Formats: sequence, structure tokens, C-alpha cells
Amino acid sequence: MDLDFDRQHIWHPYSSLINPPPVYPVARAEGVRLYLEDGRGLIDGMSSWWCALHGYNVPELNRAAQEQMEKMSHVMFGGLTHEPAIELSKKLVEITPAPLQRVFLADSGSVSVEVAIKMALQYWQSQGQPQKSRILALRNGYHGDTFGAMATCDPVTGMHHLFASHLTQHLFAPAPRPKFHEPCSDEEVAELRQLIEENRDQLAAVILEPIVQGAGGMRFYSPEYLQRVRALCDEYDLLLIADEIATGFGRSGKLFACEHAGISPDILTLGKALTGGTMTMAATLCTDKVADGICRGEAGVFMHGPTFMGNPLACAVSNASIELLLSGPWQQRVSRIEQQLREELSPLADAEGVADVRALGAIGVVEMKQPVDMMQVQEALIDRGVWLRPFGKLVYAMPPYVTSEEDLRQLTTAMVEVLGNA
Ligand code: PMP
Repeated sequence: MDLDFDRQHIWHPYSSLINPPPVYPVARAEGVRLYLEDGRGLIDGMSSWWCALHGYNVPELNRAAQEQMEKMSHVMFGGLTHEPAIELSKKLVEITPAPLQRVFLADSGSVSVEVAIKMALQYWQSQGQPQKSRILALRNGYHGDTFGAMATCDPVTGMHHLFASHLTQHLFAPAPRPKFHEPCSDEEVAELRQLIEENRDQLAAVILEPIVQGAGGMRFYSPEYLQRVRALCDEYDLLLIADEIATGFGRSGKLFACEHAGISPDILTLGKALTGGTMTMAATLCTDKVADGICRGEAGVFMHGPTFMGNPLACAVSNASIELLLSGPWQQRVSRIEQQLREELSPLADAEGVADVRALGAIGVVEMKQPVDMMQVQEALIDRGVWLRPFGKLVYAMPPYVTSEEDLRQLTTAMVEVLGNA
């Protein structure tokens, strides 16, 4: 591969083109392994950023893509519809919390968040309350890189402070404590409640990542906190937007993380694992109440319509991925991964440089006391046949659910060896 061209011309996520860090040439992927050009196989502990639930080169997904490609790869969704989109929407309505009945098929996670925000704004416009246009988000929250989504990311610790002066000024409540197993006190939500009380006339919605705050720190918080936020939204008549782009499809141990708290949002965003990690696809679901409001409003329509909306190929693969997931023992697999991550990473809890070790579902996190040297740690893990992407103080694994006990052991052993002395 022409890596010199890559270095000089191609942006990678959050990268520089002056002195770019090395990128590794991956030639193919099979099962849970990425194969570099030189033939080395690496266990993908990242599931390609939460996506590849079933691993790679999955016959069921390949077949769905091939069959659909022969029929119709893409067709505009304006004025046309097709079986893969209808089948996918039926499935999503069926498997997400019951009140979510209406489906917008978007093309990336960030776009599905834009759609969610626009739904909330149009809803309140339709209710004769256009001033209800601000969003309440959480510190350490992350919802995407486009402008609407960026405005809901933590402005201080988030990744978007460079653009702060160009973003809509929303409101931010303190992050929930990262204590999944502990109850949530009145005090913990006191500031959130106060912000809502003081701004209720301007607030359209609360947006949050249920249970797992991902890019903002890989923090797992109490289901009770989520229940309290839902109750506050009901009390003050706000919409709740749950961003399950990362947590959706079983990653936290429940099919959707909202299920830990037994709550349902008014608007739900999905992405990443929707296609089993084969192509880009996302969805925003909302309740009848939200959809009816929007459609009875001034415009009479929902004002969004991306070119690749409802792409048949992506819908067909999503259908195959959801079928594959739900027809297999995904819950047992995820809970075995959780147990193994917890047990096998536990020796790190006593290591000098480690601040915390935690696991929930198929997510294992080692939080270091200091930011790690990303390239050095990555290299050391690659030497041990493992692909992880450290981020600041965090080194975390979210492997495909089909990762065997043995492969997972190789991954955790590598983490313990590399981070134990870091
Ligand atoms: N919301 C959450 C919770 C995410 O983790 C991400 C992706 N990291 C996004 C939104 C944005 O999704 P995408 O990168 O597909 O635009």
C-alpha cells in the first residue's frame, strides 16, 4: 500500500497531516481478526468502534449484501419505498421500547442526532412553543461531530471546544457519577432539576447516552439516575432523547441500555452496530406523540431528507445483522465477556499507574492515572496480536460478541502485560 500517499493526503479521524502518527495497513478481516498487509493477525478489541458485533466476513451479512446488490443497491427514498426499509423499520419498532413507533432511516450516527434535535425543535414549534429550543445535555456527554450534535457535547472536556463560539448555546448538567451499581440520590440530580426548573420555558429536550457515557470517559452510571431523568422530563414536559448509537444492540448487556432502567425515551438514536459494522447506517425513532405533533405543525412535514436515506443495501444488511444477533445466544456471550473482562483485568486494579478497572456488558475499561503514550501502548499491544485504540487515560476493549474465551484471554493478557508496568 502507498503509505506515503496516505500520510501526505488522507485525513484519518482526528489526525494531523504534518507528522501524522503511523497508520497500520489492514488488508483483510476475518472472524475477530484484522490482518495487516504483512500477514499479522490482530484480535480486534474495538469491534471497529462498537460496530462489528459478529466479527468480520460474516457469511449471513455478505449474502444479504450480495443478494440485495443484485436487486437494487440504492434508490432515492423520496416518493419511493422498498422491502428492506419496511422490514428494517418493522424490526426496529418491534425490538426497541414499545412507545417508539416512527422511524427515520439516516445515514450516520451524527446525522441521526441532528434528526433527533430537529424532531424535538419541530415538535415544540408545532405545540405553539417555538421558544422551547434549547437542549439540556450532560457533562462528559458525546453525541457526534456535526454542528448540532457538537453543541450537545460537553463543551469543556469534550472534543469540540475549538468551535464553541459557533455552537448553539445549550445547557449542561453535571455528569452522573460513574457508579453503575449504586443508587442515585436526590443530591445527584439536584443541579439537573434546578437547571430544568430555571429554564423550563426554553427547554425542548434532555439528551443523554443511557448508562454508558462513551467518548466522554467510558463511564457507567446508575439505572436509577436514568429513571430520575425520565421522571423529571415527565414532570416538566420535556422530551427525552436517548443516544444509543454506541450502546444499542446488546453492548451494555441489554439489547438497549435504556432497558437497564426500564424506561423509554421519546426519541432514540441508533447507528454503529445497526448493520453489524458492514456499512454506514443509522436510525432515529420517535413516539406517535412526537411524530403527530411534527406533522400537525406549521410545515406539516419533517424537514430532513438525506440522499442515502433508507439505502436498500444498508437496510438489507441491517436486517440480516439483527436476525443473526437475535437468533443467537448474544446475551450469554455478552455476559461471559463481561465476567471474563472483569476477572482477567482485575489484577490491573493494584497496578501503580492504574486508577480504575471496570466492565459492563462487552465493554472493559482500564483508566490510567495519566494519559498513556498512545502509539507506544498500541505498538506493544500489536506485538501481542491485539488491536486496541487507547484514548487519553483510557485503554478499553469492546470486542465482537463472537470473541472466543481463548481470544479474549489473549486480549486481556496483553492489556495486563502492557498496562501493568505503564
Ligand atoms: N453518539 C454516540 C454516543 C457516539 O458514540 C457516536 C460515535 N462515536 C456518535 C453519536 C456519532 O456517530 P457517527 O460517528 O456515526 O457520526
